Amino acid sequence: MERYLPSLGADALKGVPAFGDYDVVVIGGGPAGIAASTTAAELGHRTLLVERLGYCGGAAVSGMSGTICGLYMTVEEPRITQPQQVVFGFAERFRAALEANGGVTRPQIYGKSWVVTHDCATYKRVATDLVRGAGIDALYHTQMIDVIVDGDALAGLVLLTKSGFTRVGASRVIDASGDADAVFKMGLHTTKGNDGVIQNPTMMFKIGNVDVPRYLAYWGEDTISPPKVISMLEARDALVRKKVWLFPTVNPGEMLVNATKIIGFDGRDLDVTDPVDHTEAEQFGIYQARAFFSFLKETIPGCENAYFIDYGAEVGVRQTRSIDGVARLMNADVVETRKCPDAIARSSWPIELHQGAKPKTEWLVDDYYEVPFGTLVPREGRNVIVAGRCLSAEHEALASCRVTAQCFEYGRAAAIAADISIRDDIAFREIDGVAVAERMGADGAA
Ligand SMILES: Cc1cc2nc3c(=O)[nH]c(=O)nc-3n(C[C@H](O)[C@H](O)[C@H](O)COP(=O)(O)OP(=O)(O)OC[C@H]3O[C@@H](n4cnc5c(N)ncnc54)[C@H](O)[C@@H]3O)c2cc1C
Repeated sequence: MERYLPSLGADALKGVPAFGDYDVVVIGGGPAGIAASTTAAELGHRTLLVERLGYCGGAAVSGMSGTICGLYMTVEEPRITQPQQVVFGFAERFRAALEANGGVTRPQIYGKSWVVTHDCATYKRVATDLVRGAGIDALYHTQMIDVIVDGDALAGLVLLTKSGFTRVGASRVIDASGDADAVFKMGLHTTKGNDGVIQNPTMMFKIGNVDVPRYLAYWGEDTISPPKVISMLEARDALVRKKVWLFPTVNPGEMLVNATKIIGFDGRDLDVTDPVDHTEAEQFGIYQARAFFSFLKETIPGCENAYFIDYGAEVGVRQTRSIDGVARLMNADVVETRKCPDAIARSSWPIELHQGAKPKTEWLVDDYYEVPFGTLVPREGRNVIVAGRCLSAEHEALASCRVTAQCFEYGRAAAIAADISIRDDIAFREIDGVAVAERMGADGAA
């Protein structure tokens, strides 16, 4: 028997008081939700952003994911190549704002590509500037917990606040919850990973007082662990992940550490949409992060005198539900770098699949694939669209297209689609994706 009831049903929700009516309601203030709400408000729509935490940033801040991946072309030899940026649009706008506030590094080598590492505090501040600057109504510490359905449309959303339940009317809904919460609660079809097995989460952490030049002399320029470190990790049974990444940040002596693999204490893969597993993930993450910190101090030159700054505010979740979209990004689309006329984002980011002892990295050298608009549009439901990592994609394809630069662009595409859908009074699935792609291209999104 199921332990959880996705929706209370229309009758139970009848008495919930109204908060207001909006043209566009965006659920979730991660990279996709920031881009979606800013774009929708700047296009003149009355926009509400609902976020369960006390700030925007999503996994990039609460999970301390820490870098913007997906901005640059992957190449054979980054040490002798200048980074070539392939994604601009909202991703570049956000990166530039981070840079203007001293909150992002220059490109750092990551295998055959580059990333830029952001400062989480600056990320929060830039996101706050965007939300306030665009005139978005925002409700933080507020969770979308149920939906009010009218035929095949969403008539409204039920929110849980400290003061109780409230209801918002929504002409168009952008589900940027990462977990496709609204789509799921509507009862529309969603999938989870590879037959229910999703990528492992990671508990990120930061350390301070690292002698960075000594560390770099040992580790090398590439942020991915060199073979000698992998060999040492393989000799330590207590550390369940054997290939890790470390990023010097903008703050002197500070490093961001992406090194843990989160599984259950009994070794099983976890499904973090289940609160029992999610709790275990948080607890396991604390112990793995501490164990890995000890390893760094004991073995990596430059880290001997490091101290532990903090964990992410919550375990970083890479994948949960994916919608069943009008289009689906297939594994073959990624590895064969397919292009499409209704492209809303490019990506040269590898398949970075967090499963097993070592994350698998499959590079797409000197090329990129394109993500079609239909991956954001559920097959059913007139007025709901998703943005971000819950788009419609096969398991390994998602392990590439889920990163931050692309999530910003999915958010912008969803807001442009909401604009078209309102203006032409049509369902999201009736929109010609080429029109969305053209508007994004006209703004220089690439
Ligand atoms: C450990 C880890 C490391 C990563 N490393 C990198 C990296 O180095 N570079 C990179 O580019 N990407 C990285 N990623 C990926 C990147 O962080 C995510 O893909 C990206 O944050 C997804 O953006 P999103 O907006 O779709 O969702 P999220 O960032 O997950 O944001 C969803 C937001 O919705 C809110 N929310 C959820 N449900 C509700 C609800 N019902 N009501 C109200 N609010 C809700 C959440 O609080 C959250 O703020 C990493 C991810 C993880 C987990």
